[in-house]
Amino acid sequence: MRVAVISDIHSNAPALEAVLDAVTPYDRLWVLGDIVGYGPDPDAVVERLRAENVVAVAGNHDAAAVGRLSTHTFNDMARAAVEWTADTISDDTRDWLGSLPDQRTEADYTLVHGSPRDPLWEYVFSVSVARASFEILETDRCLVGHTHHQLTFRLDGGDVEGLQASDGARLMLDERPCILNPGSVGQPRDRDPRACAMTIDLDSGQVDWLRVDYPFEVTQRAIRDRGLPRALADRLELGV
Ligand code: ZN
Repeated sequence: MRVAVISDIHSNAPALEAVLDAVTPYDRLWVLGDIVGYGPDPDAVVERLRAENVVAVAGNHDAAAVGRLSTHTFNDMARAAVEWTADTISDDTRDWLGSLPDQRTEADYTLVHGSPRDPLWEYVFSVSVARASFEILETDRCLVGHTHHQLTFRLDGGDVEGLQASDGARLMLDERPCILNPGSVGQPRDRDPRACAMTIDLDSGQVDWLRVDYPFEVTQRAIRDRGLPRALADRLELGV
């Protein structure tokens, strides 16, 4: 079974379309949260995902947009966008986002937005956090988003190694436990503006990362038209 894994779409419909085109055909679509926030198209993105029968978990921006999480630790731009999202989304979108779990298990994979220890907030960006995550994981594989970087951590005996993925990177999973991050669809932050995705062949254990061009100027225009903070548009062409 071929699974497409994406994360941090952040209400960027053109980026989502480009990524879905690039990973088709797939049998399942798994989404690791931050479906909304920052971007201009929350209803369109949720509608598209629901049409794909997506399996999803909530991110911190999703939880905040439905009032399940306070925005007091969000920065000003993120808070402004969450408040705009909360005011804008349809009742259907709100109900669906509010129904997403913080964590779920699919096959031998734990799906969370942040980390297994703190699914909404913690970033798996370092070997030390990865090690703490491996200690409490109940599956050999874990999929995370939140950092907006394509990263992998692998437990090898007592050592944790970090691997930076990039466009075209491939990993064959073996018996060593792994934490895999597909990167961000709608707001990459590694100075490459292309949208991120990952695919996993559950039978062979082959993982592929990819980057996809999309018309970010369309998203930028929509961000400005909706009166969202202009810096949220500017950053998309820089990939920061
Ligand atoms: Zn995010």
